[in-house]
Amino acid sequence: MSRTHFPVTALGPGTRLGVWVQGCSLACKGCMSQDTWDPDGGVAVEVGDLVALWREAVARGAEGLTVSGGEPLQQAGALREFLAAVHAERDDQDVLVYTGYDEPEFDDNRRNAVEFADVLVTGRFDIRRPTALIWRGSANQRMVVRTELGRRKYARFLDHEPERAPLQVRADESGIWLIGTPRQGGLAGLERGLRASGLPVESASWRLRPPGQSG
Ligand code: SF4
Repeated sequence: MSRTHFPVTALGPGTRLGVWVQGCSLACKGCMSQDTWDPDGGVAVEVGDLVALWREAVARGAEGLTVSGGEPLQQAGALREFLAAVHAERDDQDVLVYTGYDEPEFDDNRRNAVEFADVLVTGRFDIRRPTALIWRGSANQRMVVRTELGRRKYARFLDHEPERAPLQVRADESGIWLIGTPRQGGLAGLERGLRASGLPVESASWRLRPPGQSG
């Protein structure tokens, strides 16, 4: 796992537990989370610990769970186990899973992994296809609603283009961490703004790879 956060308010409706898995081999050019690519990075956690975290978030009012990464479907077995446990004891909380795979790329393992997801956002991040759609990073990414609960909560967001992309900033001992799907140019603008305020960004998860090297 890369990290978790509660409350997340910029990736899905309401207040949510966010879980970012570690490891992604898809290497989309312009990925804002390149720190999650290395499968040997992050920290190992038991599914039971994530379930405990989820219960704690629900006790604090979580309205949903968002799983992102990294690539959640590259840990299909553990993801299924986690989402099955969440499903078994949830009330009205929805589950949103981000994956860089498109549905035609789903094999049985990947399909099983997201059986208990209400909503998927699918497809690689494509830097050439900017979008203003909420909770999507590029125009090719699809928001796939799979359950009645998902329809009830997400129908009005499918074509929603907010004036500004919802973003959260979290600061901890490892640095500043951005949650959300910034619009194209948003990260460069953020860096410029920080620099102008006397806070130059020395390293950023959206430019860890050497300049010019694409995925
Ligand atoms: S955008 Fe998502 S799928 Fe693409 S490289 Fe980054 S973490 Fe992986």
